[in-house]
Amino acid sequence: TQERARFTNAHPRSAALAARARDHLLFGVPLHWMNDWGTPFALHVDHASGAQVTDVDGHTLVDFCLGDTGAMFGHSPAPVADAVTRQATRGYTTMLATEDAAVVGEQLAQRFGLPVWQFAMSATDANRYIVRWLRAATGRKKILVFNGCYHGTIEDVFVDLVDGRPVQRDSLLGQVHNLLDTTVVVEFNDLAALDAALAAGDVACVLAEPVMTNIGMVLPEPGFWAEAQKIIRRHGTLLVMDETHTISTGPGGYAHAHGIAADALVLGKPVGGGVPCAVYGMSAELAARAERAKREAPPGHSGIGTTLTGNMLAMAAMRAALTEVMTPAAYGHMLALAQRLAAGLREVIARHGLPWCVTQVGARIEFQFCPTPPGNGSEADRILDGELEHLIHLGLLNRGVMITPFHNMMLVCPQTTDEHVAQLIGALDEVLTQITQK
Ligand code: PLP
Repeated sequence: TQERARFTNAHPRSAALAARARDHLLFGVPLHWMNDWGTPFALHVDHASGAQVTDVDGHTLVDFCLGDTGAMFGHSPAPVADAVTRQATRGYTTMLATEDAAVVGEQLAQRFGLPVWQFAMSATDANRYIVRWLRAATGRKKILVFNGCYHGTIEDVFVDLVDGRPVQRDSLLGQVHNLLDTTVVVEFNDLAALDAALAAGDVACVLAEPVMTNIGMVLPEPGFWAEAQKIIRRHGTLLVMDETHTISTGPGGYAHAHGIAADALVLGKPVGGGVPCAVYGMSAELAARAERAKREAPPGHSGIGTTLTGNMLAMAAMRAALTEVMTPAAYGHMLALAQRLAAGLREVIARHGLPWCVTQVGARIEFQFCPTPPGNGSEADRILDGELEHLIHLGLLNRGVMITPFHNMMLVCPQTTDEHVAQLIGALDEVLTQITQK
């Protein structure tokens, strides 16, 4: 109550805008997740730059949320801002190809170990499209996902295991198809279950993050992916790696660096330096199968993509992001700083005597309410505590620091400094003192 009052007193302009938007925006915000911070009303931003956002009441926050990775390389990185500014008077949407797109295709092929790429407007779209291509290419209907996964609002993935049985997620609004007919779900790290599920047949692809990041972090056990790949291949199923978040682990993503030979790859959010766009890549063999499927399909608008796919603004931004922003030097800074942040978190959590673990994967860091990291989606789900998370998020916001509103996830970007990290640790120290004294 005290923290909510403190927030209300400090944010009169946000409060006024929230009241104004309430009547004409569904949920009163552009996206309902913007209400998920534990604040009494939505925080409204004025501008964002580098590792900071400034709200409409003039508070500048150190940003460890970074648009839930959309701004993984900082807000408005200079080369992307320049490219967007140059493109601003040269057209946005023409339905014609650009040089930028050709360069982006080359760049992606060099970095991520897959030769053929195509564009989408968001990671959700990219996942939806690649799943359709794989169904078309294999002639199989089903997909397999891991329990607790999230790949955007692509409906196919909203199936959970409850007491070991698959159920369609309750919160799946407006979905009329029975997903249990076409989506198979097993626990992450469970090779026997994966094998059995694929043996039942008709599974076009496994859609997975190499490290689960959306139910809190769940790491692959040593050897999991090496064995999983063999099983997937043995059943003639294809593997799609969704690296929308794990692109934070290095310039070529996680899978390529860890010897996971995916048939397809999805990258969203940060790949345009924060400008809306996404991509998916394919092996040469898969691309040939996809092209054949398209050729052999009945004539008509059966293509996969939207009018704005490959728009000129997104292509210019992505070219700048790939060639000038997502550099080895930027990654070097992010990964070293993420390690220092993780160490600082462990120290402050230990000082408060809390049995929480800290997991770091690339530039993403999380503390979880359990002594050792969970091994699968069910274990991760059991330790979630939304009320405690809100207390922490709100307490941090009141102290000038913002972390992701989902779980206790943080991300560092090339502009994040050791001073920012110290500010986060100091703020968390105060918040934990308050919580543990209650
Ligand atoms: N894939 C993963 C792994 C994600 O975490 C998300 C969003 O959080 C998406 C895809 C969807 O991204 P978007 O909401 O930008 O479509």
